[in-house]
Formats: sequence, structure tokens, C-alpha cells
Amino acid sequence: MTDALRVRNLTKRYGERTVLKGVDLTVRRGEIYALLGANGAGKTTALECIEGLRPRDGGEIAVNGRVGIQLQSASLQAYIRPTEALGLVAKWKGRAPDRAITEALGIYGFAKKKYADLSVGQKRRLHLALALVGDPEILFLDEPTAGLDVEGRRSLHALIKDLRAQGKTMVLASHDMAEVEELCDRIAILKDGAIVFEGTIGELTAAVGRRYTVYITTAAGRFRFDTEDLAATVSEKLAEYRRAGTEILDIRTDRGTLEEHFMSIAKGAAQ
Ligand code: ATP
Repeated sequence: MTDALRVRNLTKRYGERTVLKGVDLTVRRGEIYALLGANGAGKTTALECIEGLRPRDGGEIAVNGRVGIQLQSASLQAYIRPTEALGLVAKWKGRAPDRAITEALGIYGFAKKKYADLSVGQKRRLHLALALVGDPEILFLDEPTAGLDVEGRRSLHALIKDLRAQGKTMVLASHDMAEVEELCDRIAILKDGAIVFEGTIGELTAAVGRRYTVYITTAAGRFRFDTEDLAATVSEKLAEYRRAGTEILDIRTDRGTLEEHFMSIAKGAAQ
């Protein structure tokens, strides 16, 4: 198999409720792939079934490479120190602790602190470092920057890009559209238990149609016009206002954000 991960017809029930109704996805080697979906869509469930942490009810999963996992919510003992945790996991995996990872993640800055005293950002870094022990080829990251401040996000993004440059494949769940737009090569949108879109961000934009909004401001106020043909709408409106003798104070156009495109697919919301 040349792909890093292939999932076919994955199903998962919690009691009477079927959360995953036949999920299909394909992650290529070396790409950053985002799994998106509204709250409760089943992203964590899908990731945990793929990771083998949660039993599935049906479907096939083929993972091609060593795996590293950063869970959405994980916790260690309150008194363990970062270097001890890294040493412990390295021992489980039969590896020597990797100083390069510890350094790249800035763990030495808080290596002697107790786990309970670490900040959210420090904990995220530590959990990413733990996922990297054993030099995984495929990394699963569940909301890797949730709860981080701007600087924490920026440095984690830089690190994720670095890991991609090293050839690692990453599958991440995220709610942060700016993050997805910055980092991800391809995305999948989970809705009603199935993947309703898989492709690049450009393909997503094309799939929802190239929609534009034109805002025209006159002395009477700001008026909004939604259109798929920007040039035609602008020239039509200009002619209309000229005929009416209305002075135009400002014209702005907006192509829509990834977030709006995502919402239109994930929630069926009108744009
Ligand atoms: P979020 O974006 O909020 O993290 P998600 O897309 O990751 O959500 P999941 O956490 O996978 O969604 O949950 C999918 C659905 O399954 C939700 O309705 C959730 O309440 C339900 N669910 C998750 N875990 C369990 C469980 N252990 N037992 C029963 N229901 C569960």
C-alpha cells in the first residue's frame, strides 16, 4: 500500500446510536490531513477507532507505518516530571530517550516541574513529545493547539511543519479553520456519520461554488448583494446607482472564508 492510511466503511455504535455509519478516507504519505466536523460529529471516535484505542463495529482500517498518538485529553500522574515521563515511554517502546525531540519541543525549559504544575501549552508540548517517542511515521493529533495562546499556537504550527518536512504523515482533528488553512494539505468533513467531502481547500471552495458578497455603501447605508458572478453584479449595481443619481461612497467584495465553506457543508447552513 502506498497510502499512509486507508479506512473503508468504518462503523461505530454507542448503544442504540450509530455514530459512524460507514466512514471512508485515504491519507497519503507525507501529507497533513484534517478531519473536520461539527461538535459531536464523531471525529474523536473515528480517530480512536483508527488508532485502535476504541473497538469498532465494522469496516476495514489499514495503517501503513509506525504510529504516534496525541490524545484530545490525556493526563499523567500529578508528580511525574516531563523527563521522567519521556524516559518511561521510551523504555516501554525499547528506545533511548531522544534529546532532539526534547530540545525541539522546548521541554528542557520545564523538565523539572511536576506534571500538575505545567501550563496547558507545556502539557500539549509534553504530550506531543511523548507521541514522537519511537520515531513514528504517522502522527494522530486530536486538536493539537486547543487552549493555547497565540505564541503557543505559532510555535506548535512551526513544529508540525517541521515534522512534515521530515516526511511524517499527520492526521489531525481541529475546529480551528485558520489552523487548517495554514497547515493542511487535504481535509475531510464528517457529517451524519459519514465523510461528505474529502479534498484540498481549493476543491472545497470549488465544491460550494465561487460565491461572493458585494457591499456597497451610499449615504443611505451599507447594502449587501450575494452573487456567483462578481463582475456582472458590480457593473449592474454601478449602472443602477448611476441611473438613480446616487453617490457610491465605498465598494467592497468578499470571497467567503474557509469557515463559511466548511459550515455550508458541515451544517448545511446557507451562506
Ligand atoms: P468534538 O468536536 O466536540 O470533540 P467529536 O466530533 O470528536 O466532537 P465524538 O467525541 O467522537 O465527536 O462524539 C460523537 C458522538 O458520540 C457524540 O454525540 C458523543 O456524545 C457520543 N459519544 C462519544 N463517546 C461516547 C461514549 N463513550 N459513550 C456514548 N456516547 C459517546
